[in-house]
Amino acid sequence: MNGSRSPAPDSFAPATPPYLPQGVDQDADALAARIDAILPQTQCTKCGFDGCRPYAEAIAAGQAPIDRCPPGGSAGIAKLAALLGRAPVPLDPSCGSEGPLRVAHIDPSLCIGCTRCISACPVDAIIGAARRMHTVAEAMCSGCDLCVPACPVDCIVMIPPRAREARWTDEDAQAARQRFERRRSRLEAERSENERRLERYAPRTAPRTASGTASGIASQPGVPQAFMPDPRAQPPAADATHPPERCSQPTGGSAGAPPGAGDPDARRRALIDAAVRRARERLAAVGR
Ligand code: SF4
Ligand code: SF4
Ligand code: SF4
Repeated sequence: MNGSRSPAPDSFAPATPPYLPQGVDQDADALAARIDAILPQTQCTKCGFDGCRPYAEAIAAGQAPIDRCPPGGSAGIAKLAALLGRAPVPLDPSCGSEGPLRVAHIDPSLCIGCTRCISACPVDAIIGAARRMHTVAEAMCSGCDLCVPACPVDCIVMIPPRAREARWTDEDAQAARQRFERRRSRLEAERSENERRLERYAPRTAPRTASGTASGIASQPGVPQAFMPDPRAQPPAADATHPPERCSQPTGGSAGAPPGAGDPDARRRALIDAAVRRARERLAAVGR
């Protein structure tokens, strides 16, 4: 299950060549569901699509070939070929290579608890909290390796599983699909709730920039709630001796004020940068 992620190329135009053979059920939604049921549900994105279901929909719409799923491998391609009534083809090597299951492992001595891996994991296989050591639930890890590049201190590696077979089964795929769907619903509910709360308090909080507004920050997936600005916070009262238009002090730093003070977004960045710096110093100290 190794390999890089290649974007879905433009050559996936529906017209050339026609991927759907004559006689196949042309109801795209029903067909997409049947194709999705064959795909391994690791949600690794190695096919170039944003998960298994989008890839299934592209195949069903005749916009993608069946050879782009490394976790499914040749067995998966054979099943897709049988469903669609065509000859099996080799795996597209630009999507990655077929191989045994590997699972993520976090080096606990280096983890800084930034939670970025939790945000990246599509199947909720990582356990941890902000500024606490994180760990991977091996039985739930799909081996998608999306958490590896997300870690700012490179403390995640992919290794052979120690407490399970190095094989991704149909039961694993079903369980991963359920966790993926649950996670998606939860994130959607959290995003809606954040938007509702921020709208309720909007008149009391001044917007900054498009991406720097409290609303913009809240809508970014995986932003830890601990770093969110408190929507109940009142804007500071105007100081008669220091009217705002005369104040030239930049946000995020001055004598006596910590970096990012007064700007929750800058403060969050400063906290993560400081943690990354400390982790790098630890890595340098142990010669890694
Ligand atoms: S498991 Fe296959 S279909 Fe699903 S996202 Fe990965 S490559 Fe795409
Ligand atoms: S722990 Fe890492 S490799 Fe395992 S499923 Fe989550 S993101 Fe993928
Ligand atoms: S991304 Fe890396 S440092 Fe951050 S919580 Fe995960 S394992 Fe720890």
